[in-house]
Amino acid sequence: MQVSASIAFPARLKRAAAALRAKLNKVLDLALPPLCAACREPVDGKGLCASCWSKLSFISRPYCERLGIPFVYDPGPGILSMEAIADPPAYNRARAAVRFDDISRALVHGLKYGDRLDLAPMMGRWISHAGREILAEADALVPVPLHWRRLWARRFNQSAMLATSISTTSGVPIAAGALKRVKATAQQVGLTPTQRAANVAGAFRVPEEGKAAVAGRRLVLVDDVLTTGATVEGCARALLRAGASNVDVLIFARVADPVRTSI
Ligand SMILES: [Zn+2]
Repeated sequence: MQVSASIAFPARLKRAAAALRAKLNKVLDLALPPLCAACREPVDGKGLCASCWSKLSFISRPYCERLGIPFVYDPGPGILSMEAIADPPAYNRARAAVRFDDISRALVHGLKYGDRLDLAPMMGRWISHAGREILAEADALVPVPLHWRRLWARRFNQSAMLATSISTTSGVPIAAGALKRVKATAQQVGLTPTQRAANVAGAFRVPEEGKAAVAGRRLVLVDDVLTTGATVEGCARALLRAGASNVDVLIFARVADPVRTSI
């Protein structure tokens, strides 16, 4: 009796605390108008105010069919960028919803640090639209994994949240556990492209139990931001080594000019 009582009490307390928290959140939702994720002004709907929305830079064709980097002028159908020809990636195609700038950075940070988890469905819909051709041919989505220690500290993986939303929109399932981050890499911020590549080298692996979900399949990596592409490159190599038949990449925001832009 003693033992079962001491186990049951904290569980009940936890349930009560969770219920209270849910109730409190509902009250706060009703009391406070939603704020624009970028400028913090109150908005009618959710997400962005009209002014920030108009400043978002959605990516559309003409772009490099491999890297998805927008062209300044239209070179004609099927033309690849100099970058894609000089240094072709391991993955097949990458598509991003928007350019990485002040507005998209605010959305990414809001999602990443957990104060705006409500943004994930909207961001996922935009990614699904940008990647509709890729999704039409895909077998499964693979969110870029966090190392378990970072996942533990942050409690959720923003790439997995985006993948969940893309899966809801597109019907493409998520291959959970297909890829693991086996090395706790340093933050990529402030590193040169060469340092970034070295930082993620050998960081990703398809675990034994994930191999069936990878071999012979068309996979789509999902991440929030693409800067030099070192992270998705490391992931794509690991998936291809494990026998994936094709790896494409879907990103929320990409740096369109890595030389002049920094996160
Ligand atoms: Zn705004």
